[in-house]
Amino acid sequence: MNDDAYRSAWKALDLLEDWLTTGYSRAHPELVLESTGTREPGPVVGQDRAGSLAAIAAEVASCVKCGLSANRNTTVPGEGPLDPQVLFIGEGPGAEEDRTGRPFVGAAGRYLDTWLPPIGLAREHCFIANCVKCRPPQNREPHPDEIGACLPFLVRQIAILKPRVICCLGRIAAQTVLRTTASLGELRGRIHQLPRELQQLSGVEIPVVVTYHPSAVLRDKAGLRKPVWDDLKLLKSLLEK
Ligand code: URA
Ligand code: SF4
Repeated sequence: MNDDAYRSAWKALDLLEDWLTTGYSRAHPELVLESTGTREPGPVVGQDRAGSLAAIAAEVASCVKCGLSANRNTTVPGEGPLDPQVLFIGEGPGAEEDRTGRPFVGAAGRYLDTWLPPIGLAREHCFIANCVKCRPPQNREPHPDEIGACLPFLVRQIAILKPRVICCLGRIAAQTVLRTTASLGELRGRIHQLPRELQQLSGVEIPVVVTYHPSAVLRDKAGLRKPVWDDLKLLKSLLEK
């Protein structure tokens, strides 16, 4: 992502933080709010965490904040338990996900499923979400403006779920969550912390690990399997702490 894209994505987060904490009591002259009726400000992360997650899914279902809304069949907000061991974050829905509304159910998802038992996990322990909730045409990479438009949903999911560990699958997720332009090769193999802005929103420190996207590993099994296994062992070590 280029710097402009980062600025706009993180501007969205700044606004989101303001909304979460103050209900937009700070002045944002640059912001033109859509007139979609009155909305009670207040903490998004209330008592009813399941309700808050469902509210996000409902907002996603009718969202037209970016151009990806035009070609989707269905939205894919993400799914999993309320207290996940791990939040896996992918890039965006593919064809199968766009048809079913569920994340990682195509070939990449079936492959991801095989990564879990060796580190003592099953899908039921994990929440699975994506950077963008609508399928990019022909599975192209989501554009920075699309990621920026969708990021507040993911941030709210993180704040509600407070997973023990976040695992970013692939470069797009890693760069988006860690707010960096560093390459995947530079980011994988070590433990990161959420950027300060995200940490403040979620209220807890959540370690982040990064590994290759299952689709990339499927394409290039020989070269990427070993580093992925090392990353998964790192993830496991965090869960054992
Ligand atoms: N690839 C992703 O990044 N996410 C999905 O949900 C499916 C495939
Ligand atoms: Fe809205 Fe995200 Fe879908 Fe874009 S990708 S239309 S921001 S839900």
